[in-house]
Amino acid sequence: MKKMKLTTKIFIGLAAGVAVGLLLQGAPDIANTYIKPIGTLFINLIKMLIVPLVFSSLIVGAASIGDIKTLGRIGGKTLSYYLLTTAFAVTIGLFLATIFMPGAGLTIPVSGTSKAVASVSLVDTFLNIIPQNPLKGLVEGNMLQIIAFALFLGMGATSLPENKAQPFISFFESVAEIMYKITGFIMSLAPYGVFGLIVPVVASNGAAVLIPLIKVIGAVYVGCIIQMALVYAVTVKGFAGISPLRFMKGILPAAATAFSTSSSSGTLPVSIRTIKENFGVSDKIASFVLPLGATINMGGTSLYQGVCALFIAQVYGIDLTFAQMGTIILTATLGAIGTAGVPGGGLIMLSIVLTSVGLPLEGLTLIAGIDRILDMARTSINVIGDLAASIVVGASEKEIQYPQGQEQTSEQGREQEREVESATSLS
Ligand code: ASP
Repeated sequence: MKKMKLTTKIFIGLAAGVAVGLLLQGAPDIANTYIKPIGTLFINLIKMLIVPLVFSSLIVGAASIGDIKTLGRIGGKTLSYYLLTTAFAVTIGLFLATIFMPGAGLTIPVSGTSKAVASVSLVDTFLNIIPQNPLKGLVEGNMLQIIAFALFLGMGATSLPENKAQPFISFFESVAEIMYKITGFIMSLAPYGVFGLIVPVVASNGAAVLIPLIKVIGAVYVGCIIQMALVYAVTVKGFAGISPLRFMKGILPAAATAFSTSSSSGTLPVSIRTIKENFGVSDKIASFVLPLGATINMGGTSLYQGVCALFIAQVYGIDLTFAQMGTIILTATLGAIGTAGVPGGGLIMLSIVLTSVGLPLEGLTLIAGIDRILDMARTSINVIGDLAASIVVGASEKEIQYPQGQEQTSEQGREQEREVESATSLS
């Protein structure tokens, strides 16, 4: 028999949790005493990983940015495009969650361990990013400080001669790989974790808990469409004169692959082909901008984190200050650099965004049950952002050679379809 996919299992965990929660509606104490600990254990396992995972993966991510200096101007343009559009995406996410209010109507009390951090002003938030003592930041789990220090380390390492930097980078590559392995193991327990956390929530709140989740899906999908139309299509039109319709038609093979595989890394070969054949972007630009994008550019993921962070704040009745929203934008934008372009990578990074403003990690499990549905949309946006960056940077460098407006030949089209099919069957 074919092995069941993890996503299916998580979904079953969610459904079973809702069913058991409904049965226990009259007896929430039983749910809290006997079932909740399973969920708490799962959350503790995730917490265990946060600091080493973000620290090592960001050092490695930043080391790949370090290569930018070899490409000078092109590197600068690419990085600026990625960071600006990502920051914009989180802002859209926060904005939509403020309008949709997906968390309204569902109230979960904050448990003893997680409380919102004391509010600080935006200026202090910025000043605090630079750790006076980086080890203290690491020990205390101060996310922005850890991110800042890791970025410095990664970029510092790449400015050394290779023989000096390589042992350091290799060590953290290895740490990051180990952390991903452990993440994989912990995620395999997610169906039970989701079950353990959803039962007490449904036992106390009833089936009404599902409506907010549908609203989260709505907010993320609407946000993704806005990000594509307002940010990517508009910049592509502005810099390269390509009409939004032609842009959307051209990106289809890569977007469809991303949607079905939920992995920007897995989509990379199709992205490279798509950008060269449908838009005529040169090899030089495509081979730099796209792999870098698959590693560090996650507009869709950040947008999703904005929506989810606010949703969780609403559910737990926590009012976020302006400064905390600023922290979310910063953490999600920089955290994207360390997010693995694999299915579910963004869910792990969501824990970092939540931690940065002291939101309860228990909120993660509400999201975990529907995460794959969100992952499909956000991965497509991540990949579309990479493609848009290639076109924008390519046009500004006069590195687009394909006669604009020329349609791909039917043979190329058929080949791409075959590629999409084979990539899809890997998922
Ligand atoms: N699946 C996403 C990607 O590969 C990452 C995420 O989970 O947000 O781009």
